[in-house]
Amino acid sequence: MKVKAPRGTNDILPQDTAKWQYLENVAKNVFKRYNYKEIRTPIFEETGLFQRGIGEGTDIVEKEMYTFEDKGGRSITLRPEGTASVVRSFLENKIYGKAQPNKYFYLGQMFRYERPQSGRYRQFHQLGVEVLGGDSPAIDAEVILLGLEILRELGLEGLEVHLNSVGCPKCRESYKEKLIEYFKPYLEELCSDCQSRYERSPLRILDCKVDKDKNFLAEAPKIHEEICDECGDHFSEVKTFLDLLDIDYILNPKLVRGLDYYTRTAFEIIYKGLGAQDTIFGGGRYDGLAQEIGRRDVPGIGFAMGMERILLTLEEQGIELPIDESIDLFVITIGEEAQRSAFSYLHKLRRAGLKVEMDYLGRSVKGQMKAADRNNASYSIILGEDELQKGVATIRDMKIGDQVEVELKKLVEEMTDRIEN
Ligand code: ATP
Ligand code: MG
Repeated sequence: MKVKAPRGTNDILPQDTAKWQYLENVAKNVFKRYNYKEIRTPIFEETGLFQRGIGEGTDIVEKEMYTFEDKGGRSITLRPEGTASVVRSFLENKIYGKAQPNKYFYLGQMFRYERPQSGRYRQFHQLGVEVLGGDSPAIDAEVILLGLEILRELGLEGLEVHLNSVGCPKCRESYKEKLIEYFKPYLEELCSDCQSRYERSPLRILDCKVDKDKNFLAEAPKIHEEICDECGDHFSEVKTFLDLLDIDYILNPKLVRGLDYYTRTAFEIIYKGLGAQDTIFGGGRYDGLAQEIGRRDVPGIGFAMGMERILLTLEEQGIELPIDESIDLFVITIGEEAQRSAFSYLHKLRRAGLKVEMDYLGRSVKGQMKAADRNNASYSIILGEDELQKGVATIRDMKIGDQVEVELKKLVEEMTDRIEN
């Protein structure tokens, strides 16, 4: 039997993990500056959490979840996203009783049963933030800005910020009626999914991928023009904060979420050069979600960013991350005794903080030189029987090519000095 990785999953090999770590570090530094703390929730949850927290009738819950029964007969689902778990944890751990707001970030694998293609996988990685316990428009602007800041620090350009407000359940009721009225004459022209959405959640017709180019869609009533005064004020403050920071945005009335617990601000950050899967991150406010999951009123907002899509965008824009995988020193040995004594120096040098490697396979000196090159060593030292007897080692600067002899007992000190300078 030939074993392969499951369809839609990817191995991230050592030659690529440095990029992932770089990306994670950039994000973590930004999170620190914005005072967001990491939260780690389980990778699987009771299925009911996602049914409530993402919502029956969404693509994720209807078609994309990895759901199974565990040996105890419980229905378990691999997390398809992070928000529901974070809100569950917030409620379960009664954090609503502490000082607010609480600002979280998370990083990790998500699972969705989708048709794999570029930028779309069955196991993928998101980094995301959630802010719970505050509904100030400044938070909305901060969340968008924070996401953009991560991408800016990676060197990405040409991103579009799409922005909308979906109002609140109250003001959305009359908007929904308007939409139903508006779409009535076009019902036949809608795709079959949208025909069934028509009564239940007409808003979702607006962001349908099948119907997106139909002319009557562009003319549909725009929600940000229909929302109540309170929601309108909130939205204009969000825009004011973004203007203050010189963030350009495109008002996109088709950016909607169909479910009642999504409220007010909705946004997506897009890079057109990615083709069909061009959203790098998206999110919005969900002031009704904690009520849905745990019968508490806790306002919230967040975003989730696809890490694979960030890496694809970096590639697309030809950005090389400044990744240094070189080592400080490669120890070349001649003879068994030298190899043994090198082994203890190796340990001392590593303990002193240097990145050091040696040959384990009994290669020739020439072969070890090549290995030093392959490892991008800044220095190599040669340890042979003569050197051992004299108590010295020859240090070779691999860039310039010059060599000096140092006393073995000063080797660690000498190498640390050289590397630090
Ligand atoms: P899409 O329209 O691409 O299906 P979505 O609305 O399902 O996106 P969200 O649930 O908002 O996406 O997820 C946030 C981000 O996570 C997306 O913008 C994208 O970058 C990433 N993402 C979502 N699904 C996948 C996937 N299957 N593979 C890789 N990345 C994904
Ligand atoms: Mg999707």
